[in-house]
Amino acid sequence: MTPADLIHVLLPLPLAEPFTYRAGHGERALAPGDIVEVPIGNRISLGVVWDGTPAPLPEKAKLKDVIRRCDAPPIQLQLRKLVDWVAGYTLNPTGAVLKMCLPEPRALVEPPPLRAVLRIGDAAGVKMSEQRERVLETAREQPGMSVSELAEAAAVSQAVVRKLVELGALQADQVPAFRPPPPPDWQRAGRKLNTLQAEAAAALRSATEARDFSVTLLEGVTGAGKTEVYYEAVAAALQMGRQVLVLLPEIALTQQSLDRFEQRFGAPAWAWHSEMAEGRRAATLRAISRGEAKVVIGARSALFLPYADLGLVVVDEEHDGSYKQEEGVIYNARDMAVVRAKLEGIPVVLASATPSLESLHNVARRRYAHAVLPERHNAASLPAIQIVDMRKEKLPAQRFISAPLAAAMTQTIAAGEQGMLFLNRRGYAPLTLCGACGHRLQCPNCAAWLVEHKRHGNLQCHHCGHQQRLPKHCPACEAEDKFKACGPGVERLAEEAAILFPDARLAVMASDTANSPKQIGEMLERMERRQIDILVGTQIVAKGHHFPLLTLVGVIDADLGLAGGDPRAAERTHQLLTQVAGRAGRAAHPGRVLLQSFDPGHPVIAALSRHDTAGFLAAEMAERQRAGMPPFGRLAAVIVSGADQAEVEQAARALARSAPRGDGLSVLGPAPAPLHYLRGRFRERLLLKADREIDVPAALREWMSKTKLPSGVKRTVDIDPYSFL
Ligand code: ADP
Ligand code: ZN
Repeated sequence: MTPADLIHVLLPLPLAEPFTYRAGHGERALAPGDIVEVPIGNRISLGVVWDGTPAPLPEKAKLKDVIRRCDAPPIQLQLRKLVDWVAGYTLNPTGAVLKMCLPEPRALVEPPPLRAVLRIGDAAGVKMSEQRERVLETAREQPGMSVSELAEAAAVSQAVVRKLVELGALQADQVPAFRPPPPPDWQRAGRKLNTLQAEAAAALRSATEARDFSVTLLEGVTGAGKTEVYYEAVAAALQMGRQVLVLLPEIALTQQSLDRFEQRFGAPAWAWHSEMAEGRRAATLRAISRGEAKVVIGARSALFLPYADLGLVVVDEEHDGSYKQEEGVIYNARDMAVVRAKLEGIPVVLASATPSLESLHNVARRRYAHAVLPERHNAASLPAIQIVDMRKEKLPAQRFISAPLAAAMTQTIAAGEQGMLFLNRRGYAPLTLCGACGHRLQCPNCAAWLVEHKRHGNLQCHHCGHQQRLPKHCPACEAEDKFKACGPGVERLAEEAAILFPDARLAVMASDTANSPKQIGEMLERMERRQIDILVGTQIVAKGHHFPLLTLVGVIDADLGLAGGDPRAAERTHQLLTQVAGRAGRAAHPGRVLLQSFDPGHPVIAALSRHDTAGFLAAEMAERQRAGMPPFGRLAAVIVSGADQAEVEQAARALARSAPRGDGLSVLGPAPAPLHYLRGRFRERLLLKADREIDVPAALREWMSKTKLPSGVKRTVDIDPYSFL
């Protein structure tokens, strides 16, 4: 057997290496990137012919043949390189990364799904009834409906419609289930840009036309017009006939973004996120791979899809921590977007009102270009920020809205404007304890308190999803009905707001009350139509949205994100509060923001009150540099977990003993993770800290290869960690 007959095939399964197959005798030679069907074990899987020639195998090795080459666009070289690169960087099996490129591999190779639509057939000799006539009448007026649609439109049962098909009075045609929308019209004019916007847009446009790798940080206060500006780059890419990907950090932002895109370009973009129905997902993937989907607006998982001709990537709200995927293949989609752009030789635009220190540092090192929009469009002024010193507010127990905030809200509503109460905590109360003995209700699987959700009538663990009813008796002292809710969640805040502002129309928005783009879209629409006076919400309301009549934002607990050992706590809190504050007064009406804080002297709170972003960033940057933290140094976390605590601790200590040391590299720990028990597993953390020049994945690989862990113990490597739990 000659090596030429042997090929590598990578399967979208968590396997580190491609398998070797015999190429078989197709009508043309297989080439890397081809999608093929291969036998694996006793089933058949789709795979991708991978690069590299397999080493010749011993004569007796049992090799299987590739079954066939599928009729699908091949996976391009740049994407294959990305898969290899991401697998190497994140220490994940190559096949697991390929799975992210091909979430529905069958969609690429199978014909598009069809559906039956009805038109008028031959009704001669068919006995008519009132219902049947109504159906035919409706079908004549609106041909192209499915059985269920026609039944609904004619207000009859589906059986009536089916019978008419059977009798030939209606004819069924098979058509594609998802008709591709018309392509966006790049020639449509956008809004007339002001001078600075036009300058930024020209820079992005020429970066796009250059057909080369570049990164531009598009920075501008909330409402400055960043979206309008990057739309110009989108138009340029469309004019070149290429595809565009716009990444958003949250599904919550998709609907508004899709609507706005359609207004601007006269045709819809394609959405991509985890809540899509399977058929829609398959159709979208297919359209992306065939270049029919010109613009995709999606969550982080859209980054890895097999675009036919990607010409531009926009990462909106680039600073957002939600770009970090924390499960499975752990990666940061913002960073991987830059990697993909580099491999593809295309531009990427990172947009934010509060850029990450990483991106700002790259601007300072001149690796990224910088386009700045320093003012709000139309001179809408930034909101005035006032700190409410909660140490001086004497609030009754379990009340959370201070007198100044209540007064401001009353005024706002009286003026016919809207208010927002922001608290980054889902549910009713973060802690429930027994009033008799002080026992705290904990998750049985995690070292975490159970959070009461009145809306769902239960207690929930926000880490593992465990749910239970509030028990009647305290599990510790048996006292009956003595449980007390401690602290606020958004549901409880809404309860208090209903008492304080009895005439206001309230709505609560959190990821568990609105979790599909449609629900979120409806809520936002109600807000825009002024059917809501006060919106109470978590970080889901903080990002991106534009509410012209919202003039007051009250932040209930500005200190909430500052505690704990997260090196980005200050940066993140500053970003989040700046974003929330930015919701206020975006249109003609000036806005104001009240931040309730128990620590008004904290650098983050003080900087916010003075609108001194530059000062805050400079201080934070200096501190990171002093401590050798990102963006000046590199971090990687290793989490060791298992059901047997002693075994986990022992394994963590063994890993620590073989840890690399010296020469710009050190390992901290092991230490019990802050969340030291999660989903029934004990967790220990080690943190590798390295100078920028160090090849961290290589160091990790060598380190990990030295220690064999017992089978019940798992290690998870998190490069560039964002979560320190
Ligand atoms: P950002 O993305 O920076 O938050 P947007 O692009 O959403 O800002 O703009 C904020 C609001 O101002 C939007 O309603 C947008 O349509 C409007 N806007 C921005 N620039 C212009 C412009 N040049 N002409 C008219 N309206 C504009
Ligand atoms: Zn739990």
